[in-house]
Order: sequence, then C-alpha cells, then structure tokens
Amino acid sequence: MEPPLDAQLDRARDLLAAARRVLVLTGAGISAESGVPTFRGVQGLWKEYRPEELATPGAFRRDPRLVWEWYAWRRDLVLRCKPNAGHRALARWLRARKAFAALATQNVDGLHTRAAAEDMGSQASLGSSAAPYPLLELHGSLFTVRCTECGREEPHTAPVDATSLETLPRCGACTALLRPGVVWFGEPLPETALSEAFRWAGEAEVALVVGTSALVHPAASLPGMTLRRGGSVVEVNPEASPLTPLAAVSLRGPAGILLAKVLGTGEPTRV
Ligand code: NAD
Ligand code: ZN
Repeated sequence: MEPPLDAQLDRARDLLAAARRVLVLTGAGISAESGVPTFRGVQGLWKEYRPEELATPGAFRRDPRLVWEWYAWRRDLVLRCKPNAGHRALARWLRARKAFAALATQNVDGLHTRAAAEDMGSQASLGSSAAPYPLLELHGSLFTVRCTECGREEPHTAPVDATSLETLPRCGACTALLRPGVVWFGEPLPETALSEAFRWAGEAEVALVVGTSALVHPAASLPGMTLRRGGSVVEVNPEASPLTPLAAVSLRGPAGILLAKVLGTGEPTRV
C-alpha cells in the first residue's frame, strides 16, 4: 500500500529543503490545467492530422503553409491560456532558490516564461526569458522562429498569416522562409539548453519531475542521471510512469494542486 498523501508531501518537502541543487523537469502535463491539450489526448488532434505528420522537417518542406497554419493555431490556443497554479508555484519557488535550481521543460507553450515574468511583476515577454534562474526550453518555443537558410533565430510573437505561401514570415536578413523555433521529430535538441540540463541533472540532489510520461529521450534520461549520482526523484503526475518505481516520492494528482502544497503558493518571497 502507498503511504498517505500527507506523509508523501512531507517527504517531498524535506528532500527539496535539504537539496543543495535541484533540477525541475516539466512536460505537457503541467500545462493541462491551463487548457493546453497534450498530444496524446483526443483534443491533441488538429483537423485530421496527427502531430507526427506535421511536426517534421519533411512536412515543412512539402507544405510549409500547412505546417505554419497548425503552428499559428497552436500559438493562438496557447495565448488564450494562462499559467496555472503549478507554473506559478514553480516560478516563485525557483526565484527564491536562485542559483540553486534550474527548470528544464519539454513544453513549447511559453507558460513557464510568462509565469516567471508575472512573478517578477513584469509584462510577459514571450520568446525571450528574463527568468532569474536557468529556464531551459529543451524543445524550443512556439514564440521563436528560425531562418531556414541562414539559421538566424529570434523571438516572434506577431500573428502569422498562413493563408498562402506569400504571407508566411520571412527572414529580415536573407528573406528566406522562417520556420517555427521548435524541435521537430527526428531533430536534435538545442545544444546549449541540453548540455546545461545534463549538467544540472548530474549535479542535482533532487530531480522534481512534473507532468511528463518520461518516455521521450533525451529529456527523459535526465532523472536517471540524478539517480546515478545518488540523488532522488520526486514525481508529480496523476498517472504512474516508467519513472514511478524509481522515484523516492511519487505524488499522484494534478500539478496545480500538488506543487502549491509542496512548494508553497502566493506568499511574498525574499528577493
Ligand atoms: P507527455 O508524454 O509529457 O505526457 C503528459 C503527461 O502529463 C502524462 O504522463 C500525464 O499523466 C501527465 N498529466 C496529465 N495531466 C496532468 C496534470 N494535471 N498534472 C500533472 N501531470 C499531468 O506529453 P505529450 O502530450 O505526450 O507530449 C510529448 C511532447 O510533445 C512534449 O514533450 C512536448 O515537446 C510536446 N507537447 C508540448 C505541449 C506544450 O507545450 N504544452 C503540449 C503537447 C505536446
Ligand atoms: Zn535568413
């Protein structure tokens, strides 16, 4: 039988309080309570397409307009969502921990960035993070673009008109087509963010893993690195995952409620 939730919450708080370094890893589940659909759910479908058919370099080469139309729809959807109690609890807690914690996310929705900006009382600036801790977007962001020719990358939050090939966004430097600044199936993860996440995972005493099924590599291997250096995993997920048997604490339930309980919510923090 599993220990009662209160005992598990205490254990999670103790582990986090004692840890000198913490890596937080989040997946689509943390944004579920904001109304952002996960890929695995039925709502994840757009028109008759599966994400696997659209989020690939081949799909963009074949039909950039269609792919941009999907991303324009996803941006629009995410902009109508707000950071939830889970994003907010993390933003506040991470700010208080300053140099001793990092946040790596598989999400591309910008909600951690917006939560960080709101926590600091500034206007949300999507596409560029002003978080006072490392915020590592392992799969890129819906709010950045990259040039298909010269590789220039920049924030991009303006609406995209995907009604024709001619109206798609183009590079200011070389006029080639811009593509969404996200990692597609089969593409490598951004090197700097990934190596920083690996470094944190290898040094962390606790990996706090929230809302990810821990299946998609290489991000999924981060908690394993923390375990190998003798650290612990604290998992927050309504469902069991491949990581559950390895976790010191597995908090079963929605991230918004549980993170507020473990990390604290709205109290003012030391700055
Ligand atoms: P995933 O494999 O990370 O699975 C989602 C996990 O969240 C599941 O384990 C589920 O049990 C858990 N979950 C559901 N509701 C939750 C809640 N309220 N609190 C905590 N956990 C909850 O995600 P996926 O949807 O299969 O996506 C795979 C990849 O696709 C992601 O890694 C990401 O790159 C991309 N994606 C991103 C977003 C986003 O940016 N919000 C959304 C969908 C997909
Ligand atoms: Zn260019």
